[in-house]
Amino acid sequence: MRAAPDDVRSLYVHIPFCERKCEYCDFTSVAGATGSEAYMDALCAEVRRLGERLGRLSLDTVFIGGGTPSLVEPDLLAALLATVRSTFSVAVDAEVTMEANPSSVTAGRARVWRAAGVNRVSLGVQSLEADALRFLGRVHDADRALAAVAEVREAGFTSINCDLIYAVPGLGDTRWRRTLERVVAAGPTHISCYELTVEPGTPLHTRVRRGLVRPVEGVRSMRQHRLAVDLLEAAGYGQYEVSNFALPGEECRHNLVYWHNGYYAAAGVGAHGHLPAAAAASIGLDVEAGAVSVRHWHGRGIAAYGRAIRAGDLPIAGSEPVGPGMREQERVMLGLRLREGVRIGAASLDEARSLEGLGLIAIDGDRVRATSRGEAVLNQVTLRLVGDRAA
Ligand code: SF4
Repeated sequence: MRAAPDDVRSLYVHIPFCERKCEYCDFTSVAGATGSEAYMDALCAEVRRLGERLGRLSLDTVFIGGGTPSLVEPDLLAALLATVRSTFSVAVDAEVTMEANPSSVTAGRARVWRAAGVNRVSLGVQSLEADALRFLGRVHDADRALAAVAEVREAGFTSINCDLIYAVPGLGDTRWRRTLERVVAAGPTHISCYELTVEPGTPLHTRVRRGLVRPVEGVRSMRQHRLAVDLLEAAGYGQYEVSNFALPGEECRHNLVYWHNGYYAAAGVGAHGHLPAAAAASIGLDVEAGAVSVRHWHGRGIAAYGRAIRAGDLPIAGSEPVGPGMREQERVMLGLRLREGVRIGAASLDEARSLEGLGLIAIDGDRVRATSRGEAVLNQVTLRLVGDRAA
């Protein structure tokens, strides 16, 4: 059975190597680049295997995430992208994003990425305050972060994102504002602002559990989020998603696929994918009767990943069928995060009006979106909008 090629137009690939592990990180990543050459070979093999099973998909977006993709040798990244291009049909105007950390950026490396076809770089800046960077366990300082923005621009990149983190203990509103102002002055085209969250199993979680660190309380966190929205919008960056801000036309097309509840293929350790039922069946996933699509994920171990690839398998560790009810819930929950909002049916309108009365959503015709208050309780808002009908 072949996938409907029109349905899957995005590919995510994961590179799990980092200079060191950050205090808050629960992404699939390891410290050091040992074994990266063998891993990149295995990753190319998985991309080719996906192509054999899914067919020659036409891709509009490719996202190389991590981990720290910029840490691996630029030639290996170029080989990966060459494999993606020879396996799939990458549109001429496709968005090809690569994540990079300031400490592994140079103008020379960035030129190789650009020549390989990357046209958007997402930089893990996180903060420009020395103590916040130390607290987070980052290896760069503010000067290196700002230099990295200049270097990727010098290499010819015009689409540049800076990731930032707020609600860092010890980081007051004034210094959060200063980071935002300095990043805006550096002129990226896109800025993402994420709240620091304490994920189980991270060193930060251990410190919180032992009482060594007190997380920032919700009120301050909300205030810092609001501060970012106001400052960035005044600087011309539209808030097109709860945590994401872009100059006009610079919205991340790949991430919009996620928020529009679209489909994407995935390769690499820890990578998650979402495929329509027919495509999922074609890569060997179990598809329950009635499932519309299947979400699936790769295992997190790099050695096991290599073994599975050598054995001729796709290293997929688990999958979850998505029925029509769950699909509708996901569509609404993800769409509520977007400034453009999400369409709801007439049956949900009364409930929507009552949520609007509580200040949790805004209604515009047949579309609704979460307000700042609603963003904090998206699950509950979604359940009230579609819960019963999705059951
Ligand atoms: S650089 Fe990113 S992926 Fe790597 S350890 Fe830090 S937060 Fe995790």
